[in-house]
Amino acid sequence: MQITERPAGRLAQGGTERQPGVKWFPILLAALSVFRAVSSFRVFAALPASKTFPVLTALAALSALSAFFMGCAGGPSTARLGVAKGNFITVLIDPGHGGKDNGGTSGRLAPFQKEKDLTLDTAKRVRDELKRAGLRTLMTREDDHFVELDDRVAMGNQLGAGAILVSIHYNATGSSRPNGVQTFFWHANSHGLATRIQQAVVSSTGETNNGVTRRRLRLTRNPEIPCVLCECAYLTNPTENAKVAQDNYRQLIANGIASGILQEYRLGDEGIPSVPEIWAPLSRGFDKYAPTKKGKKHVRHTDEDARG
Ligand SMILES: [Zn+2]
Repeated sequence: MQITERPAGRLAQGGTERQPGVKWFPILLAALSVFRAVSSFRVFAALPASKTFPVLTALAALSALSAFFMGCAGGPSTARLGVAKGNFITVLIDPGHGGKDNGGTSGRLAPFQKEKDLTLDTAKRVRDELKRAGLRTLMTREDDHFVELDDRVAMGNQLGAGAILVSIHYNATGSSRPNGVQTFFWHANSHGLATRIQQAVVSSTGETNNGVTRRRLRLTRNPEIPCVLCECAYLTNPTENAKVAQDNYRQLIANGIASGILQEYRLGDEGIPSVPEIWAPLSRGFDKYAPTKKGKKHVRHTDEDARG
């Protein structure tokens, strides 16, 4: 694939182009908060009795809607942290694969494990850690269902500025030898995040450090917010497959990912070597998604389109 330098003018702000973001979202929250506040005062004491009930009903509905939106954004715990040097407050956590797409599997190794289950479990642990720390969290899926890669990208783009996307995967190859942790990024504004997550997962798990790799995947190139993809371990490696089968080991991985995110949140790219922004066309999507055939090894995992 041809990769060319991005024109200098578009690099002036030191990042990738960003969408204006979902500007109506905070406005809606503010408006609903006002309604909630109003509903707590007795301002409709002056209303005729016949109109009080519909007004109360409307306010109750608005309060419920407000609570729903606040819940989507991570709940009241978000008040604990403001925007720091990382310039984000929301983390979109993406458990790779799901539903008809198993992702990689451990093949003949015992215990038999599917990547889609491990990514979901790990993502929930990361979410819990980040929530505890006070960041807003969202998930691209919270159960075992399939989400198109382009829809995951769209979710990130809809959040816009102030959000990052962290995709969680487990690796699988045709050989049992490869092992270790690797984190992918594409945009220059994601290098710090990738570096911190990679270092934190390696230090938390003691696993082999396969470093940070710049690769144009659909989930590292197409989102307009900082985004990285972490391959936490190899399911096709007997030792790592046995380790990730344990709850406490997946917790170590999640602790590492969360710790890397929180470091980036606090410090931004401070101390991270800069990399040039590289212009490249959007990564192509599948015309049609081809699910992994039953019994067939998921070897397309190294293909950039299969992973993201
Ligand atoms: Zn994967």
